[in-house]
Amino acid sequence: MLEDDDLSWYARKADSLRQDVAVPRAPEGPDPRVAGLLAELVAGGIRGSVERRTLYTRRLPPGCRGCLSGKGTNAFVTGLCTRDCFFCFNQKPRVDQLVVHGIPLAEPEEAPYIVRRYGLRSVGVSGGEPTLRPERLLRLVRAVKALPFSVRVDLYTNGDGLTDALLAELKAAGLDALRFNVVAREFDLSPVERALKLFAEAAVEIPVDPAQTVQLHDMVRRLDALGVPFLNIHELFVCRENASRMAARGHASGGPEAPGLLWEPVAGGEAAALELLLFGLREAKNLSVYYCSTRTQEDISARGLRRRRRLGASAAA
Ligand code: SF4
Repeated sequence: MLEDDDLSWYARKADSLRQDVAVPRAPEGPDPRVAGLLAELVAGGIRGSVERRTLYTRRLPPGCRGCLSGKGTNAFVTGLCTRDCFFCFNQKPRVDQLVVHGIPLAEPEEAPYIVRRYGLRSVGVSGGEPTLRPERLLRLVRAVKALPFSVRVDLYTNGDGLTDALLAELKAAGLDALRFNVVAREFDLSPVERALKLFAEAAVEIPVDPAQTVQLHDMVRRLDALGVPFLNIHELFVCRENASRMAARGHASGGPEAPGLLWEPVAGGEAAALELLLFGLREAKNLSVYYCSTRTQEDISARGLRRRRRLGASAAA
Protein backbone atom coordinates (compact mmCIF):
# COMPACT_ATOMS: atom_id res chain seq x y z
CA MET A 1 0.00 0.00 0.00
CA LEU A 2 1.45 3.36 -0.99
CA GLU A 3 1.72 5.97 1.73
CA ASP A 4 0.12 8.46 -0.63
CA ASP A 5 -1.36 10.82 1.94
CA ASP A 6 2.05 11.34 3.47
CA LEU A 7 3.26 14.84 2.63
CA SER A 8 6.56 14.43 4.46
CA TRP A 9 8.62 14.26 1.23
CA TYR A 10 7.26 17.67 0.19
CA ALA A 11 7.83 19.01 3.68
CA ARG A 12 11.48 17.94 3.56
CA LYS A 13 11.83 19.44 0.08
CA ALA A 14 10.27 22.73 1.20
CA ASP A 15 12.54 22.80 4.21
CA SER A 16 15.59 22.34 2.02
CA LEU A 17 14.48 25.30 -0.10
CA ARG A 18 13.93 27.60 2.84
CA GLN A 19 16.51 30.32 2.86
CA ASP A 20 17.81 30.54 6.39
CA VAL A 21 21.54 30.53 5.81
CA ALA A 22 23.75 33.58 5.66
CA VAL A 23 24.07 35.08 2.17
CA PRO A 24 24.86 38.64 1.15
CA ARG A 25 21.74 40.80 0.98
CA ALA A 26 21.06 43.53 -1.51
CA PRO A 27 20.01 46.94 -0.19
CA GLU A 28 16.28 47.04 0.50
CA GLY A 29 13.85 48.62 -1.91
CA PRO A 30 12.29 47.70 -5.24
CA ASP A 31 14.49 47.40 -8.31
CA PRO A 32 13.89 50.67 -10.19
CA ARG A 33 14.15 48.92 -13.58
CA VAL A 34 11.19 46.57 -13.05
CA ALA A 35 8.34 49.09 -13.45
CA GLY A 36 9.83 50.45 -16.68
CA LEU A 37 10.35 46.98 -18.14
CA LEU A 38 6.79 45.96 -17.27
CA ALA A 39 5.45 49.12 -18.95
CA GLU A 40 7.44 48.31 -22.10
CA LEU A 41 6.20 44.72 -22.09
CA VAL A 42 2.57 45.80 -21.72
CA ALA A 43 2.98 48.38 -24.50
CA GLY A 44 4.49 45.62 -26.67
CA GLY A 45 1.46 43.34 -26.16
CA ILE A 46 2.76 40.88 -23.56
CA ARG A 47 0.21 38.27 -22.48
CA GLY A 48 -0.66 36.79 -19.09
CA SER A 49 -0.77 38.34 -15.62
CA VAL A 50 1.48 41.27 -14.79
CA GLU A 51 0.43 41.13 -11.14
CA ARG A 52 1.37 37.45 -10.70
CA ARG A 53 4.33 37.79 -13.10
CA THR A 54 3.06 34.96 -15.28
CA LEU A 55 3.93 36.43 -18.67
CA TYR A 56 4.46 35.10 -22.18
CA THR A 57 5.05 36.46 -25.65
CA ARG A 58 3.21 34.38 -28.26
CA ARG A 59 1.86 31.08 -26.97
CA LEU A 60 1.75 29.53 -23.52
CA PRO A 61 3.60 26.19 -23.71
CA PRO A 62 0.96 23.41 -23.67
CA GLY A 63 2.88 21.59 -20.93
CA CYS A 64 2.43 24.58 -18.61
CA ARG A 65 -1.38 24.61 -18.75
CA GLY A 66 -1.91 21.58 -16.48
CA CYS A 67 0.72 22.88 -14.10
CA LEU A 68 -0.83 26.37 -13.88
CA SER A 69 -4.26 24.88 -13.18
CA GLY A 70 -2.92 22.77 -10.29
CA LYS A 71 -3.40 19.51 -12.25
CA GLY A 72 0.27 19.01 -12.94
CA THR A 73 2.93 17.22 -10.94
CA ASN A 74 6.58 16.25 -10.91
CA ALA A 75 8.11 12.83 -11.28
CA PHE A 76 11.74 12.58 -10.19
CA VAL A 77 13.28 9.58 -11.93
CA THR A 78 16.47 9.78 -9.88
CA GLY A 79 18.21 12.36 -7.73
CA LEU A 80 21.54 11.50 -9.40
CA CYS A 81 22.94 13.90 -11.99
CA THR A 82 25.84 14.32 -14.39
CA ARG A 83 26.26 18.02 -13.54
CA ASP A 84 26.42 20.40 -10.61
CA CYS A 85 24.77 23.59 -11.86
CA PHE A 86 25.36 26.66 -9.71
CA PHE A 87 21.61 27.27 -9.36
CA CYS A 88 20.57 23.65 -8.70
CA PHE A 89 18.16 23.43 -5.78
CA ASN A 90 17.93 19.66 -5.54
CA GLN A 91 18.62 18.10 -2.19
CA LYS A 92 22.05 16.72 -1.41
CA PRO A 93 23.33 14.14 -0.87
CA ARG A 94 21.66 12.97 -4.06
CA VAL A 95 19.46 9.90 -3.73
CA ASP A 96 18.75 7.40 -6.50
CA GLN A 97 15.02 7.18 -5.89
CA LEU A 98 11.85 7.43 -8.00
CA VAL A 99 9.41 9.95 -6.52
CA VAL A 100 6.07 10.85 -8.15
CA HIS A 101 3.84 13.61 -6.75
CA GLY A 102 6.01 13.57 -3.61
CA ILE A 103 5.49 9.83 -3.12
CA PRO A 104 8.48 7.46 -3.28
CA LEU A 105 7.64 4.52 -5.58
CA ALA A 106 9.20 1.07 -5.77
CA GLU A 107 8.23 0.60 -9.44
CA PRO A 108 7.40 3.05 -12.26
CA GLU A 109 4.20 1.07 -12.96
CA GLU A 110 2.76 2.43 -9.68
CA ALA A 111 2.66 5.94 -11.14
CA PRO A 112 -0.74 5.61 -12.94
CA TYR A 113 -2.39 4.96 -9.57
CA ILE A 114 -1.08 8.32 -8.31
CA VAL A 115 -2.15 10.10 -11.50
CA ARG A 116 -5.69 8.69 -11.25
CA ARG A 117 -6.12 9.26 -7.55
CA TYR A 118 -5.12 12.92 -7.70
CA GLY A 119 -6.80 13.73 -11.02
CA LEU A 120 -3.52 14.78 -12.60
CA ARG A 121 -3.30 15.76 -16.26
CA SER A 122 0.36 16.58 -16.77
CA VAL A 123 3.59 15.13 -15.45
CA GLY A 124 6.97 16.84 -15.64
CA VAL A 125 9.56 14.07 -15.56
CA SER A 126 12.86 15.27 -14.16
CA GLY A 127 15.56 14.53 -11.59
CA GLY A 128 18.52 14.83 -11.15
CA GLU A 129 19.19 13.77 -14.69
CA PRO A 130 16.49 11.27 -15.68
CA THR A 131 18.45 9.82 -18.61
CA LEU A 132 20.88 8.32 -16.08
CA ARG A 133 18.17 5.69 -15.50
CA PRO A 134 16.89 5.14 -19.05
CA GLU A 135 14.91 1.96 -18.35
CA ARG A 136 13.17 3.49 -15.31
CA LEU A 137 12.43 6.59 -17.39
CA LEU A 138 10.98 4.63 -20.31
CA ARG A 139 8.86 2.43 -18.05
CA LEU A 140 7.49 5.51 -16.32
CA VAL A 141 6.55 7.24 -19.58
CA ARG A 142 4.96 4.06 -20.98
CA ALA A 143 2.98 3.45 -17.79
CA VAL A 144 1.56 7.00 -17.63
CA LYS A 145 0.81 7.19 -21.36
CA ALA A 146 -1.05 3.85 -21.17
CA LEU A 147 -3.78 5.45 -19.04
CA PRO A 148 -7.16 5.55 -20.82
CA PHE A 149 -7.32 9.35 -20.63
CA SER A 150 -4.93 12.02 -21.81
CA VAL A 151 -1.99 12.84 -19.57
CA ARG A 152 0.74 15.03 -20.92
CA VAL A 153 4.34 14.05 -20.18
CA ASP A 154 7.26 16.48 -20.52
CA LEU A 155 10.87 15.41 -19.95
CA TYR A 156 13.34 17.80 -18.29
CA THR A 157 16.93 16.98 -19.18
CA ASN A 158 20.38 18.50 -19.52
CA GLY A 159 20.87 16.38 -22.65
CA ASP A 160 23.98 14.54 -21.44
CA GLY A 161 22.52 11.05 -21.79
CA LEU A 162 20.10 11.71 -24.59
CA THR A 163 21.32 9.48 -27.41
CA ASP A 164 19.42 9.29 -30.69
CA ALA A 165 18.39 5.74 -29.73
CA LEU A 166 16.90 6.92 -26.43
CA LEU A 167 15.11 9.78 -28.18
CA ALA A 168 13.50 7.27 -30.55
CA GLU A 169 12.44 5.05 -27.63
CA LEU A 170 10.96 8.02 -25.78
CA LYS A 171 9.02 8.97 -28.89
CA ALA A 172 7.69 5.41 -29.21
CA ALA A 173 6.78 5.44 -25.48
CA GLY A 174 4.53 8.47 -26.08
CA LEU A 175 6.59 11.31 -24.59
CA ASP A 176 5.02 14.63 -25.59
CA ALA A 177 7.87 17.09 -25.27
CA LEU A 178 11.34 17.83 -23.91
CA ARG A 179 12.69 20.79 -22.00
CA PHE A 180 16.41 21.28 -22.00
CA ASN A 181 18.53 22.91 -19.33
CA VAL A 182 21.09 24.33 -21.76
CA VAL A 183 22.93 26.28 -19.04
CA ALA A 184 24.19 22.93 -17.73
CA ARG A 185 26.10 22.49 -21.03
CA GLU A 186 27.16 26.12 -21.39
CA PHE A 187 24.51 26.92 -24.00
CA ASP A 188 25.34 23.96 -26.25
CA LEU A 189 22.16 23.58 -28.32
CA SER A 190 23.15 20.40 -30.16
CA PRO A 191 20.96 18.08 -28.01
CA VAL A 192 17.98 20.40 -28.66
CA GLU A 193 18.69 20.31 -32.38
CA ARG A 194 18.77 16.49 -32.38
CA ALA A 195 15.55 16.27 -30.38
CA LEU A 196 13.79 18.64 -32.81
CA LYS A 197 14.09 16.01 -35.52
CA LEU A 198 11.65 13.79 -33.60
CA PHE A 199 9.75 16.16 -31.31
CA ALA A 200 8.00 19.30 -32.54
CA GLU A 201 8.14 20.49 -28.95
CA ALA A 202 11.80 20.40 -28.06
CA ALA A 203 11.99 23.42 -25.79
CA VAL A 204 14.43 25.11 -23.42
CA GLU A 205 13.84 25.88 -19.75
CA ILE A 206 16.42 27.77 -17.69
CA PRO A 207 16.82 30.33 -14.92
CA VAL A 208 18.00 33.79 -15.98
CA ASP A 209 21.36 34.73 -14.49
CA PRO A 210 21.79 38.53 -14.68
CA ALA A 211 25.49 37.90 -15.37
CA GLN A 212 24.75 35.93 -18.58
CA THR A 213 22.91 38.55 -20.63
CA VAL A 214 25.20 38.26 -23.67
CA GLN A 215 24.93 34.45 -23.81
CA LEU A 216 21.16 34.60 -23.23
CA HIS A 217 20.55 37.05 -26.07
CA ASP A 218 22.69 34.93 -28.38
CA MET A 219 20.77 31.82 -27.26
CA VAL A 220 17.39 33.45 -28.06
CA ARG A 221 18.58 34.26 -31.59
CA ARG A 222 19.90 30.73 -32.13
CA LEU A 223 16.76 29.05 -30.74
CA ASP A 224 14.60 31.18 -32.99
CA ALA A 225 16.73 30.33 -36.02
CA LEU A 226 16.56 26.61 -35.19
CA GLY A 227 12.75 26.68 -35.02
CA VAL A 228 12.54 25.87 -31.30
CA PRO A 229 8.95 26.70 -30.28
CA PHE A 230 9.32 27.61 -26.59
CA LEU A 231 11.77 29.14 -24.17
CA ASN A 232 10.71 29.03 -20.51
CA ILE A 233 12.62 31.33 -18.22
CA HIS A 234 12.70 31.35 -14.44
CA GLU A 235 13.67 33.96 -11.93
CA LEU A 236 17.00 33.00 -10.37
CA PHE A 237 16.61 32.33 -6.65
CA VAL A 238 18.67 31.55 -3.60
CA CYS A 239 17.79 28.65 -1.33
CA ARG A 240 19.61 26.57 1.22
CA GLU A 241 20.82 24.03 -1.35
CA ASN A 242 22.46 26.55 -3.69
CA ALA A 243 23.32 29.42 -1.31
CA SER A 244 27.08 28.92 -1.17
CA ARG A 245 27.46 28.47 -4.95
CA MET A 246 25.26 31.51 -5.63
CA ALA A 247 27.24 33.62 -3.16
CA ALA A 248 30.47 32.49 -4.86
CA ARG A 249 29.11 33.90 -8.15
CA GLY A 250 28.36 37.21 -6.43
CA HIS A 251 24.59 36.84 -6.23
CA ALA A 252 22.97 38.57 -3.29
CA SER A 253 19.51 37.72 -2.08
CA GLY A 254 16.86 40.25 -3.02
CA GLY A 255 14.64 38.81 -0.28
CA PRO A 256 13.27 42.00 1.22
CA GLU A 257 11.71 42.82 -2.16
CA ALA A 258 9.62 39.64 -2.06
CA PRO A 259 8.47 39.07 1.51
CA GLY A 260 6.72 35.80 2.23
CA LEU A 261 8.30 33.82 -0.59
CA LEU A 262 9.79 30.49 0.31
CA TRP A 263 12.48 31.03 -2.32
CA GLU A 264 14.24 34.34 -2.43
CA PRO A 265 14.83 35.77 -5.90
CA VAL A 266 18.34 37.14 -6.33
CA ALA A 267 18.86 40.86 -6.51
CA GLY A 268 18.46 41.94 -10.12
CA GLY A 269 16.97 38.57 -11.08
CA GLU A 270 13.50 39.79 -11.93
CA ALA A 271 14.77 42.71 -14.00
CA ALA A 272 17.07 40.33 -15.91
CA ALA A 273 14.20 37.92 -16.64
CA LEU A 274 11.89 40.74 -17.76
CA GLU A 275 14.63 42.19 -19.95
CA LEU A 276 15.10 38.80 -21.64
CA LEU A 277 11.34 38.49 -22.09
CA LEU A 278 11.30 41.93 -23.74
CA PHE A 279 14.25 40.92 -25.92
CA GLY A 280 12.31 37.81 -27.02
CA LEU A 281 9.17 39.87 -27.66
CA ARG A 282 11.07 42.26 -29.91
CA GLU A 283 13.61 40.00 -31.60
CA ALA A 284 12.16 36.50 -32.00
CA LYS A 285 10.15 35.73 -35.13
CA ASN A 286 8.65 32.43 -33.96
CA LEU A 287 10.03 31.55 -30.54
CA SER A 288 7.54 32.01 -27.67
CA VAL A 289 9.10 33.12 -24.39
CA TYR A 290 7.32 32.36 -21.13
CA TYR A 291 8.37 33.87 -17.79
CA CYS A 292 7.55 31.58 -14.86
CA SER A 293 8.49 33.72 -11.85
CA THR A 294 8.98 32.57 -8.25
CA ARG A 295 5.61 34.21 -7.57
CA THR A 296 4.02 32.02 -10.27
CA GLN A 297 5.73 28.94 -8.87
CA GLU A 298 4.44 29.71 -5.38
CA ASP A 299 0.92 30.02 -6.85
CA ILE A 300 1.32 26.66 -8.61
CA SER A 301 2.57 24.93 -5.44
CA ALA A 302 -0.28 26.36 -3.35
CA ARG A 303 -2.92 25.31 -5.94
CA GLY A 304 -1.45 21.81 -6.23
CA LEU A 305 -1.27 21.35 -2.45
CA ARG A 306 -4.90 22.49 -1.96
CA ARG A 307 -6.02 20.08 -4.66
CA ARG A 308 -4.00 17.23 -3.22
CA ARG A 309 -5.38 17.77 0.28
CA ARG A 310 -8.95 17.99 -1.04
CA LEU A 311 -8.71 14.83 -3.14
CA GLY A 312 -6.79 12.99 -0.39
CA ALA A 313 -9.51 13.87 2.13
CA SER A 314 -12.39 12.86 -0.18
CA ALA A 315 -10.70 9.52 -0.94
CA ALA A 316 -10.31 8.85 2.78
CA ALA A 317 -13.97 9.74 3.57
S1 SF4 B 1 21.25 19.42 -14.66
FE1 SF4 B 1 19.46 19.82 -13.37
S2 SF4 B 1 19.56 18.36 -11.64
FE2 SF4 B 1 21.58 18.40 -12.67
S3 SF4 B 1 22.77 19.89 -11.49
FE3 SF4 B 1 21.85 21.01 -13.23
S4 SF4 B 1 19.90 21.81 -12.41
FE4 SF4 B 1 20.61 20.20 -10.97
